[in-house]
Amino acid sequence: MTPEEVLRFAKENGAKMIDLKFTDLPGTWQHFSMPLHQLEEEAFVEGFPFDGSSVRGFQAINESDMLVIPDASTAIMDPFTAVPTLSLICNIAHPGDAGFKTRYSRDPRYVAQKAEDYLRTSGVADTAYFGPEAEFYIFDSVHYVSTDNKQCVEVDSDEAHWTSGRDLRHDGSRNMGHLMRVKEGYFPVAPNDTLQDLRTEMVLKLEELGITVEAQHHEVGAAGQSEIDIRFDTLTKTADSMLLYKYIVKNMARKYGKTVTFMPKPIYGDNGSGMHTHSSLWKDEKPLFYDGDGYAGLSQMARYYIGGILLHSPALMAIAAPSTNSYKRLVPGFEAPVNLVFSQGNRSAAVRIPSTNSPKGKRVEFRPPDPTANPYLLFSALLMAGLDGIRREIDPSDYGYGPVDRDLYHMSAEDLREICSVPGSLDEALNALEKDHSFLLEGDVFTYDLLEKYIDLKREQSATVRMRPVPIEFSLYYDA
Ligand code: GLN
Ligand code: MG
Ligand code: MG
Ligand code: MG
Repeated sequence: MTPEEVLRFAKENGAKMIDLKFTDLPGTWQHFSMPLHQLEEEAFVEGFPFDGSSVRGFQAINESDMLVIPDASTAIMDPFTAVPTLSLICNIAHPGDAGFKTRYSRDPRYVAQKAEDYLRTSGVADTAYFGPEAEFYIFDSVHYVSTDNKQCVEVDSDEAHWTSGRDLRHDGSRNMGHLMRVKEGYFPVAPNDTLQDLRTEMVLKLEELGITVEAQHHEVGAAGQSEIDIRFDTLTKTADSMLLYKYIVKNMARKYGKTVTFMPKPIYGDNGSGMHTHSSLWKDEKPLFYDGDGYAGLSQMARYYIGGILLHSPALMAIAAPSTNSYKRLVPGFEAPVNLVFSQGNRSAAVRIPSTNSPKGKRVEFRPPDPTANPYLLFSALLMAGLDGIRREIDPSDYGYGPVDRDLYHMSAEDLREICSVPGSLDEALNALEKDHSFLLEGDVFTYDLLEKYIDLKREQSATVRMRPVPIEFSLYYDA
């Protein structure tokens, strides 16, 4: 839509308000609103002022005047406001003197746009497609309690009445005995699956707002783990879609009295939630990752792309799995990757090559990411790592990254010694990013300014968790 079309669209839909949304550095939507009459065509160039000092990862208080500049192509009617409201995703800029605005280096959406420009100027390809598979838990309620030594969170779900730190209580009080068994949520029909209609409502809303859905299903996690897969699209567009996706999924759940979390490991002993990310490169509308004669149907370019991703994986993890909780997911036995190798079909490998004989479908699945990642930064960083691999011709087999088609969870310690694993904690990943980030700075796609602030923020989170006694420590050490 053009600005003129947006104004017409708003009127046709009876909009009374506009809501301006943008993404903070960790990757969540922020917003403010105004009456529709404030929106004129110039606003799509001039923007609207806001205070950037109270937004996570943005400005210091003494330089806090910022602008949001709405992107007309993102206009939708907000599906969750009581009053008809036009919703726009915005870019961020500094006001500058005499109307001379500059884009803001810590705006994640700007990074994504620069990554797409960088790809085009590289000559390697003109388009990168991304397809994320976000998983999440739908709970009836979550209680934070700290009185019991052994638990601090109680999660309630219709399908598995579960208390953290204890066994599943199959009391059947809510679901008449038809509960999901631990790790067997993939995927019995109703009445065990009580979330079918809710997931379908989410899917229909996503499609109504222009996001094409491929499938929805219950996931392995017994306490209501779910997945909705959207169709791949270009980098910035897919990241925009993921923010809208989370907004719809969380708010639709809320409408039905439920609550959704995208945290990677809410429940000990059952599967965590990942956001496997598929990607592929194209030039002149032709796919570049397919070669029928190659291992897993991969072209040499795809192998270099994988090599770049695996080589930079420890650093990438600070962006792909950016919470302390992420590393509770990345352990053996839960379909989450632990080893830095590639493989056809192997779900314990960090890079999996989905089986397909179609050149257009040939793509690379990177499995370490989880949905706490900021999708703008994640897709950009993945692309930069892959492009670095292509430029430096990093073939994964020359670097000990496989292919490994055996089950990595059940390999001997000796065999595993040869294989690198993902970092064991957020701090380790941040250390890796501090050492290895020049591939991100190519073409000024990422900037020092952003990376420094990002690492600060994440170190703070890590310290917040590290400095606190956690409930299970009472069980381990109370009687020492
Ligand atoms: N939940 C698993 C993860 O954490 C993935 C399960 C699957 O989609 N096969 O990555
Ligand atoms: Mg899936
Ligand atoms: Mg899944
Ligand atoms: Mg997958």
